[in-house]
Amino acid sequence: MKKIQIITILFSLTLLSCQEKAKEEVSETITTVEDAVIIHEEYTKPEPTEPEGTEYYEPKVPVVGPATDGKIPSDAIVLFDGSSLDGWMHTQDSTAAKWHLNNDGSMTVADKTGNIRTKQEFGDIQLHIEWRSPLPVQREGQNRGNSGIFLDGIYEIQVLDNNDNDTYVNGQVGSIYKQGPPLAMASVPTGEWNVYDIIYHAPEFNQEGGKIKSATVTVLHNGVLIQDHTEIKGTTPYIGWPKNPPHGKGPLMLQDHGDDSRVSYRNIWVREL
Ligand code: MG
Repeated sequence: MKKIQIITILFSLTLLSCQEKAKEEVSETITTVEDAVIIHEEYTKPEPTEPEGTEYYEPKVPVVGPATDGKIPSDAIVLFDGSSLDGWMHTQDSTAAKWHLNNDGSMTVADKTGNIRTKQEFGDIQLHIEWRSPLPVQREGQNRGNSGIFLDGIYEIQVLDNNDNDTYVNGQVGSIYKQGPPLAMASVPTGEWNVYDIIYHAPEFNQEGGKIKSATVTVLHNGVLIQDHTEIKGTTPYIGWPKNPPHGKGPLMLQDHGDDSRVSYRNIWVREL
């Protein structure tokens, strides 16, 4: 009987020693919050019996000033605040952006000048952007207030005046163009400002250029979830299937649809993720 007790005590001591050693090793390898979560899950086995066994304090979470009362997050990169178009250029020839800079802090597509893109390039981002369909209403379907927000410069989230204006659902406002219709149509009346809040995770490619992980996108349209971590299957061409050219960081691009769709934009900022 005594022998069994001694063996049990020795076993318990060994187990405790192993757990302590594991904790020491773990603290050396934690470099990010993500690591901490994964490793923490490892060393909490067997299940703790005290609350402290499932609590950790490092690494600290960064403090970010909130986007309330018209402010932007303290770590956001402002891409357009109404003061200039200096951060933008035409995609086709890299010349200075020729879109109209308006007195109300917005910019508007200048007819047939072409798409514009940010000079800066990004990977995974949280993007805030506001857009407005033009008045008076002109034309039908895809030719009414058409523009678009191209993530990494090649994946279009559709901007369209869809109010009383039917079109193919995988090309309507809030769609991943020609791929994924939105979960809801949440536009404000034509001529008022819409808000898109977008979470984008870029695709990953191997060294040979093959895609190993698709991009994903989540979109809130005026606070309504319209894309829920949706897979982006590739580029978003007008004609043909999505393509998957390998790429690294890319710009944010805004579309001149080429049909005098005078869509306006304002308050554009990103947070790099
Ligand atoms: Mg478009």
